[in-house]
Amino acid sequence: MKVDLSLEGARALDLQFSAATRRGDYLIPGREGKELIYFCGNSLGLQPLKAQEYVLQELADWAELGVEGHFHGKRPWFDYHKQFAAPISRLVGALPQEVVVMNNLTVNLHLLMVTFYRPTGRQYKIIMEAGAFPSDQYAVETQVRLQGMEPEEAIIELEPRPGEHTLRTEDILQKIEEHAEETALVLMGGVNYYTGQFFDLKAISSTARKYGIKVGFDLAHAVGNVVLSLHEWDVDFACWCSYKYLNSGPGGSSGVFIHERNAQNTSLPRFGGWWGHDERERFLMRKGFKPMPTAEGWQLSNAQILPMAAHLAALELFDQVGMTALREKSLSLTAFAQACIDQINQRNNHPIQIITPTNTAERGCQLSLIFKKDGKRIFSSLQQAGIVADWREPDVIRIAPVPMYNTFEEVWNFARHLERSL
Ligand SMILES: *Cc1c(COP(=O)(O)O)cnc(C)c1O
Repeated sequence: MKVDLSLEGARALDLQFSAATRRGDYLIPGREGKELIYFCGNSLGLQPLKAQEYVLQELADWAELGVEGHFHGKRPWFDYHKQFAAPISRLVGALPQEVVVMNNLTVNLHLLMVTFYRPTGRQYKIIMEAGAFPSDQYAVETQVRLQGMEPEEAIIELEPRPGEHTLRTEDILQKIEEHAEETALVLMGGVNYYTGQFFDLKAISSTARKYGIKVGFDLAHAVGNVVLSLHEWDVDFACWCSYKYLNSGPGGSSGVFIHERNAQNTSLPRFGGWWGHDERERFLMRKGFKPMPTAEGWQLSNAQILPMAAHLAALELFDQVGMTALREKSLSLTAFAQACIDQINQRNNHPIQIITPTNTAERGCQLSLIFKKDGKRIFSSLQQAGIVADWREPDVIRIAPVPMYNTFEEVWNFARHLERSL
């Protein structure tokens, strides 16, 4: 299908997808009275208008009720975390008892590895993508050391073929099969933060499971960006942060998925804390840890109400629009961005390489761009034009047109500035 790349074409598409666009429910940052073109929702999503009201509500309950807020506030703190089960399970394709919101992402990655990375003499390796987000690399490296091994011997990294930037699914699956005998865990990102590649999580999960290998995903760049079916894909566990596409504010709470078949198994090893203990006996303050038979059984501490209040407000919008409608707009919006860049390339002797897969099933909303020359200068010139993108060493500019609050017209304006800055 030929896309109309004119300003009028962009505006027509905005009209077509108006039901999936909730820009008016967010605070859009500006400069000198003009709204910025914010393409950084993959790093820190924008603030929903309702976030302030939700956070202030908890401050008010705390002020007025003190400790009574645990049971008598508008949204009692004692089981505050339970409000997330329904909206989060819809977002990631899980059962309500398979998800919980707690801690921060890297903390949860460690907690989940305590349970799901259980090397035995023969099966002790971890397969992960090369160039994973640094925090994930450090988590895996230190978990391996905790087990008394060296990262070089225990970590198998998946690398793109020479001359390629992204991984081929067949290569990932082949690597798992090749090392099945010695692998204890496959741990991948859902969408790679650098290239924007969305991995075939269903295929990876089913291949790992076929060989009895545990499989977990870091969905920091996938949740709120692509449609997920974690339960159906039979994934062992997953975790993500809420401040990127989920718009829950800096340092916001992390979410966790633990498949029912694991969550119900209260004998699985884990780190325990009182909030993971059987809630009927939690306040008997007795000896003997008895975990909840749900994802809540991995909680350690009582809920962090203030960041979770912002998260709750942000999730309301996802429930209202729905991931299917968001993804549908997202596919068009990113395809529009790609078409604009392709046109710039044709008119200017191909200065830009898009390293994100062009197959739409293999990407979310982000495009990662490499410039033949002057990448840094082009990046600053975009900044000056009021475009918020980000620069990732060594040479990538990432742009993330987010369907919830970005528009086709913004993409059109971005493309105009980009061509000018070349
Ligand atoms: C953003 C991100 C993180 C950040 O971890 P925090 O613990 O929330 O600071 C970790 N891993 C991945 C893949 C990310 O994209």
